[in-house]
Amino acid sequence: MLPFTRPDIDEETIASVAEVLRSGWLTTGPKCRELEDALSTRAGGRPVRLVNSATAALEFALRIACVGPGDEVITTSLSWVATANVILAVGATPVFVDIDPATRLIDLERVSAAITERTRAIIPVDLAGLPVNRDILYEIASRHGLRVIEDAAQSQGARWNGRELGCFGDLIAFSFHPNKNMTTGEGGCLVMNSEQEARQFEKLRLQGVTRNADGTYDCDVLGGKANLTDIAAAIGLGQIKRLDAFNQRRRELARLYFSKFDGLSRLQLELPLADFEHSNWHMFQVLLPASLANQRGELIRRMRETGIATGVHYPAIHQTALYKNLGLANAHLPHTESVASRILTLPLFPAMQEADIDRVVIALTQGLDHLSHEKTLA
Ligand SMILES: *Cc1c(COP(=O)(O)O)cnc(C)c1O
Repeated sequence: MLPFTRPDIDEETIASVAEVLRSGWLTTGPKCRELEDALSTRAGGRPVRLVNSATAALEFALRIACVGPGDEVITTSLSWVATANVILAVGATPVFVDIDPATRLIDLERVSAAITERTRAIIPVDLAGLPVNRDILYEIASRHGLRVIEDAAQSQGARWNGRELGCFGDLIAFSFHPNKNMTTGEGGCLVMNSEQEARQFEKLRLQGVTRNADGTYDCDVLGGKANLTDIAAAIGLGQIKRLDAFNQRRRELARLYFSKFDGLSRLQLELPLADFEHSNWHMFQVLLPASLANQRGELIRRMRETGIATGVHYPAIHQTALYKNLGLANAHLPHTESVASRILTLPLFPAMQEADIDRVVIALTQGLDHLSHEKTLA
């Protein structure tokens, strides 16, 4: 079975995890600090702190930005539900803005129109690792005095204007879930603007506690329990060294997909934007023709039968039951709804070979031909 993604952990990393296990110190400790330093170096020296998920990083970012009940946060509905769930978690209201179908990212031209007196922040999402236009994003944010919390869960190592994401901007959250371009098993981090924000983040991730030199501590805010273990950080230290090579390999594989799909225009697939300047190629996603959208499940099943796993990233958040029940399903998001119904993630991970790409393209071609044929008969 070819999975749609698979983490690549080398033997050296496995040995370093064993070393942590033998050391007697498993929870947050020296390995976490070492990984925070390495992440901070990549982020141009800005403060970075680890947590056990990007979801926690995003929620704490909203709290650092003082977003709460009565506030609105503008975001996209074409994302993992965590993006909007964190807005609800702090008591604020998500305001979904439609995507630009060319990039599948939040349409920044529509953002300005969605800003009200209650808008406090924007959460852009770099779907598939393609960065939202940071020039326009920060121009809008500064014009309206809004905070930006970048959901860069998928875009670690991606670039804007030649600079890696995290080196500039407001608050930036990365994820180290096993499906992302680098992993800690589970984990995430937040890049911040100041040591003061970093201290606030440290409190939020561990019960709101500040330790004193005399062994006592105080608790002055309601914090969570989201600190990372040194076991996980050891995995991350092995991965961060390889992130550039991973991303380079992903770019090569994406180029191969484009070359194999060249000449298959009869399939009427919409390919992703062929960006080799900004994206870290977290995913390679195609859109099925609208006429076959309601047979996507059948296509996924057929491809699985030939040994190829695919994914749906993502069903639109506003159309899930929770958001329907909150009355958010009637947002006017035609491009989001169309793309969400037709999108299909093809396998893409560094250890893939050209022969794997060939298998995927053949299975997809045969699956689509079969569906079109059935449609003609019906
Ligand atoms: C993976 C992901 C998250 C959540 O990351 P976790 O580390 O699993 O909490 C949030 N947003 C997007 C866009 C993601 O892909």
